[in-house]
Amino acid sequence: MHFNALPALLMNRVPSQCAVCRSWPSAPVCHACMARFGQPRRRCRTCALELPELPELTEQTSQCARCKRQPFGLDACFAALPYAFPWSELVSRYKFDSQTGWASFMASTLLEQPAVRAFLGQLTAQDWLLPLPLSAERLAWRGFNQAWELTRALLRQSACRASADTSLLLRIRHTRPQSELKRSARLENLKGAFAVAPLRTAELTGRRVVLIDDVMTSGASLLTAAGVLRQAGASHVSALVLTRTAPT
Ligand SMILES: [Zn+2]
Ligand SMILES: [Zn+2]
Repeated sequence: MHFNALPALLMNRVPSQCAVCRSWPSAPVCHACMARFGQPRRRCRTCALELPELPELTEQTSQCARCKRQPFGLDACFAALPYAFPWSELVSRYKFDSQTGWASFMASTLLEQPAVRAFLGQLTAQDWLLPLPLSAERLAWRGFNQAWELTRALLRQSACRASADTSLLLRIRHTRPQSELKRSARLENLKGAFAVAPLRTAELTGRRVVLIDDVMTSGASLLTAAGVLRQAGASHVSALVLTRTAPT
């Protein structure tokens, strides 16, 4: 992995011990732990679920069975890490302990993937990178939006020319945490949760949008937001997430 983000991380007072195995001195996560827990996996191109390793990657084998049966609602979806030990713990720690310096580590881990780098590299200033918004209540409580920190770090660390914005896509309704709900209740919980800023829909007409978030489980939030963006005229909606749950 690239460790050129390290000085910025240190300035943000992220400990120089490996956050997983506590070896020291080290990068935020040491080489051994990245090799053990952070190996890239083959993933479905539209929902980022892990795919079985097959000798050849073809159009036929680049999607999971579910996405082949029924279009998923995203034009493309990329994930860097499994939402499992140790990444799930690190993501929670980052969210709840306001360790915003972790955003640089997350961005560099995503950018390690050539496909992510290529995807971001072909975007233009007409395209949007939009962090999945938090409700005003949650933002006030947490003090920062982890998805926006990740978006900013991605722009800092890559040659991506897309425009980023936090007030184009809004979360207008505070909802129960998705993690408390069964899969079937998640989409229902999110009805009316997102909206495009009034008077700004023209900025989405015919545009490509990439949604950014730290965790993707069922994908209900991303799909609901994608639906709202398409309704407002976006031509393509994709997603870039740090972690993705394993297939169930
Ligand atoms: Zn380690
Ligand atoms: Zn899929």
